Amino acid sequence: MTDVLSSYVRGGWQRPSAEGRPMFDAVTGEEIGRLATDGIDMAAVADHGRRTGGPALRELSFHQRASLLKALAGHLREHRDELYELSARTGATLGDSKFDVDGGIGVLAAYASKGKRELPAGTVLLDGDIEPLSKGGTFLGQHVLTPLHGVAVQINAYNFPCWGPLEKLAPAFLAGVPTIIKPATPTGFLTARLVELIVASGLLPEGSVQFLAGSTGDLFDHLTEQDLVSFTGSASTARQLRTHPVLSARAVRFTAEADSLNCSILGPDATVGTPEFDLYVKALTTEMTVKAGQKCTAIRRAFVPAQQVDAVIDAVRERLGRVIVGNPSNPDVRMGALAGTEQRDEVRRSLKSLTDAGRVVFGDPDHVAVVDADPERGAFLSPVLLTGDADTAAFHEVEAFGPVSSVLPYTSTDQVIELAARGQGSLVGSIVTGDPEFAREVVLGAAPWHGRLLVLDQADAKESTGHGSPMPQLVHGGPGRAGGGEEMGGIRGVAHHMQRTAVQGSPEMLTAITGRWVRGSARTTTDVHPFRKHLEELRIGDTVVAGPRTVSQEDVEHFAEFTGDTFYAHMDAEAAAANPFFGERVAHGYLVVSFAAGLFVDPAPGPVLANFGVDNLRFLTPVKFGDELTITLTAKQITPRDTADYGEVRWDADVTNAAGDSVARYDVLTLVAKQAS
Ligand code: NDP
Repeated sequence: MTDVLSSYVRGGWQRPSAEGRPMFDAVTGEEIGRLATDGIDMAAVADHGRRTGGPALRELSFHQRASLLKALAGHLREHRDELYELSARTGATLGDSKFDVDGGIGVLAAYASKGKRELPAGTVLLDGDIEPLSKGGTFLGQHVLTPLHGVAVQINAYNFPCWGPLEKLAPAFLAGVPTIIKPATPTGFLTARLVELIVASGLLPEGSVQFLAGSTGDLFDHLTEQDLVSFTGSASTARQLRTHPVLSARAVRFTAEADSLNCSILGPDATVGTPEFDLYVKALTTEMTVKAGQKCTAIRRAFVPAQQVDAVIDAVRERLGRVIVGNPSNPDVRMGALAGTEQRDEVRRSLKSLTDAGRVVFGDPDHVAVVDADPERGAFLSPVLLTGDADTAAFHEVEAFGPVSSVLPYTSTDQVIELAARGQGSLVGSIVTGDPEFAREVVLGAAPWHGRLLVLDQADAKESTGHGSPMPQLVHGGPGRAGGGEEMGGIRGVAHHMQRTAVQGSPEMLTAITGRWVRGSARTTTDVHPFRKHLEELRIGDTVVAGPRTVSQEDVEHFAEFTGDTFYAHMDAEAAAANPFFGERVAHGYLVVSFAAGLFVDPAPGPVLANFGVDNLRFLTPVKFGDELTITLTAKQITPRDTADYGEVRWDADVTNAAGDSVARYDVLTLVAKQAS
């Protein structure tokens, strides 16, 4: 018997007390190892995450967590070859392995970079702007996000043993929530090695990642309202887990990403000979053969204008005929094995329902020529293309989780939108067309049933990441049959691990709680101009008030001639008088902003390195000739950068007239140097 793998729990590797379930080499059928978690105290595992991992993560700022993810991506990148080698035993070709391994590392890197660029320096994430709740401005609201104090139980599918755990880990880690990884049994040996590498790197705080090499046992019985479960796998398991009594009694967050019957739609314009026709055929063949079609995002239903069906089938058959199936270690092989013979048997069962419903136009579900391997011992299957009547229920209900797709005819835009919806919710769909009107109608019609939609045409094809690739920046998940969940989506995925709380209070209190200066809070004016302060010396609330400066007609005319902006509201008295907003000539908004800069800037070289932008600029009251302008500039948010000798400072700018009315409000964004060390 082969070795039973250990779990990484409570700070060490623990061997189970039972023999466990076997895992097999997908190519040779040889047993690789066993998985079991018997004897592991699941309550203590959850507790370790909550008591050790959670506090250690919450101690770190978003930027520090992002740096660790970046370092981890670098560490795993150094061990890629070893992971590829093991990945071949899951039936994956080198291309498939890169999709899984490099894709997963890419998600870590993407979250590291998003964390640095889009998250604040501290540990509190603000959601939206201040909401005014009173006339006098003393009572306001602000939504804040704080990390849950529980664990993220992450249950993975067998088809992406590296990408799956990493795409779940990255947003949880960045949010400050510890992870418990549960791999799928068939490919658990690869996830186990991935976790060994993560642990051995020593980069992540203890307790932030634990690994169960086998079943979750009674873990769900010990979950609380602070924990969450992210699941990828079959719709039936999702249903079973979602209704676990503890999950419903304690409202434990549960997100699922399940199998879906994704579609790809060929536009009526994309006839034989057009670039879009070729793109469609290529994408369909790729989606059938990458990972031997074991992708939750693969195209299962190919909707094609009725008059194009034969042409599409011919072209896809021609391409599929060139796909060499066999041992993925052979460089000529284009499609490897399924994850195991059990999975192959399952696909054959589903294929039975599909062949009863339609007809096979390529491939033989029971036989395939195989290179460098034994077709009986390895989990090989031919790509199988079917066609039939698009109305037949089986095409919209039965998912054969392998290299299987059906080409189905449609006759109108409305009909194809309806057909897309018959999948009852999909992770992704694609529309391959050069016709913007068709793309618009289909996208808007099909969007409520989809988590992601790709519009493919000759303009984006070269750079497109393809139908089947979830992107860390974009949401991955879909309604209904696709599980009803949502993962990744950039910072949205981080927020899923946090609690959104609406905090109500006075400006002063909200400033103290959020770390971002709120208008209405105290301002500090000192003898030292804030532009003369280094990042460490600057405090939120530090303010400079400058002015007044009178705006004259000559100023406006000079500005108009100098810049070329001679818009009638500034230059033509008669036309300006007829303007419903002004009634007379007024100053340019950009002149007001320029005068404000002229007033608040401290010109000598100093710690302010650059002004890199202006946010939320609004002109609130027209400035007339003779108006006197005063600027109040207040440090609003200070964001040091870990890896640079400067940080970002956001300033609240409020330009007022002699009556005290705001004429312009905006945020000024600057880079400010740290003190030389
Ligand atoms: P399952 O739903 O059986 O398994 C998915 C994950 O859930 C595995 O880690 C599995 O562990 C775990 N699991 C199963 N039962 C429980 C339970 N009671 N408590 C806790 N965890 C549990 O899916 P399969 O992997 O068997 O795949 C079946 C089908 O699911 C495929 O044929 C395909 O249709 C679909 N699928 C969808 C994927 C997607 O990405 N959306 C990916 C893969 C498959 P273990 O393996 O140890 O049983």
